[in-house]
Amino acid sequence: MKKQYITLKTVRLNNNCPECYSNEGLKLCFKQEFVETNLYKSITNNTKHHLNCTTCQTPIYPARWTDDIDRIVDYHKKTFEPKPKSIKLKKGAWIIIISLDIIILFIILYVFGVFG
Ligand SMILES: [Zn+2]
Repeated sequence: MKKQYITLKTVRLNNNCPECYSNEGLKLCFKQEFVETNLYKSITNNTKHHLNCTTCQTPIYPARWTDDIDRIVDYHKKTFEPKPKSIKLKKGAWIIIISLDIIILFIILYVFGVFG
């Protein structure tokens, strides 16, 4: 099973970076977790967001956020709409389901004496 967070939305913030004080580097990313197995792909309800600075290449952890950053992140959190939870079967899963149907059909035919 492969789990990965995919970036759905990136917002550039005009706030000053707490590390290098540049006001051009802060980027807020919203990610949602996707799961992929051999049989299906699904979107989970798990989301996360993180802030990093592209000027000094540093992840900015919430402990370093100023009140302004807190407020703007909060605002973006409210406007972020994650994709609805969903599951999509892959071809392999359909083949298994269809094969099972055929097997069940044969069992029914056998039980009712069609081959007898
Ligand atoms: Zn920086």
